[in-house]
Amino acid sequence: MNINSMTKIIGLLGHPVKHSFSPQIHNYLCEKYNQNNIYCCFDVEKQKLKSAVEGIKTFGMIGCNVTIPHKVDIIKYIDQIDKNADIIGAVNTIKNIDGKLIGFNTDGVGFVKSILEKGYALKNKRVLIIGAGGACRSICVELASQGVSYLEIRNRSLDKANQISKTIKNNFSLDVICDTKSIDENDLNNIDILINTTPIGMESKLCPIDENLTPKGNILVCDIVYKPHNTALLNWAKKNNLNVVHGIDMLINQGLHAFYIWTGIKATKEDEEYIKDLYNKM
Ligand code: NAP
Repeated sequence: MNINSMTKIIGLLGHPVKHSFSPQIHNYLCEKYNQNNIYCCFDVEKQKLKSAVEGIKTFGMIGCNVTIPHKVDIIKYIDQIDKNADIIGAVNTIKNIDGKLIGFNTDGVGFVKSILEKGYALKNKRVLIIGAGGACRSICVELASQGVSYLEIRNRSLDKANQISKTIKNNFSLDVICDTKSIDENDLNNIDILINTTPIGMESKLCPIDENLTPKGNILVCDIVYKPHNTALLNWAKKNNLNVVHGIDMLINQGLHAFYIWTGIKATKEDEEYIKDLYNKM
């Protein structure tokens, strides 16, 4: 990487940021595609967020990623917001266009890409999602945008699930069913895609569904948890000969989409594999 007087900065604003994998993704892409940019992480406390956002303009930065806890609060400091990011109510990517800051949300887009790139379609599919947090919210908006025909959320509590349901109903012609009950075989036999968006399985062997269930249909099972790579849910799916999508694919694809927003460059499948390799070596 040749840093010189023309090098522009892309930042990550979050608190904390020290475990972020984003510098590896974006500095690799900048170097490969000869972009004279450098990606740096900035640990920004809540009360300093406004001045950090002003810094994007002051320093003529290309833009930034935004992570916990600023994804919602940052909206009040930017100039414009993309339609789906507005529906989601959270921004994880900002592009600086001549001093005007535009906010996007690439989480759900990254998830959707991880399914489509494996050759699966989403239009008219029946989807069951476990969990109702921030990731579920962005995934639901993108699934609705892709034209799924049925969307159900199962969460241990109803409040956040109902809020997501209301958002989808208000913006798409789709009803979202919400329930707290655990998943049974009838549920599995009634869907095309099952997605875990809870942290269950993260750094543990816990599974968000009963591992004794044996589905009849050929459902696609996705887990957005990326550590471990093979979660208990994905191991259950493989044992039942079901196809799977790993959480790391969403993590990388949301980054690749942010890079596309900043530079107009579409990273290749080869880039994705290279970045996956980098991640596995971490
Ligand atoms: P979040 O906003 O905190 O939401 C978590 C959801 O899971 C909530 O609905 C919560 O239920 C439910 N939940 C949490 N612990 C549970 C438990 N022990 N049993 C049952 N339900 C439980 O989190 P998030 O930002 O959506 O992230 C969720 C997970 O996705 C995390 O593991 C995160 O690392 C991962 N993630 C991955 C990617 C990726 O790129 N692969 C991107 C974003 C997030 P309540 O509503 O009742 O609290």
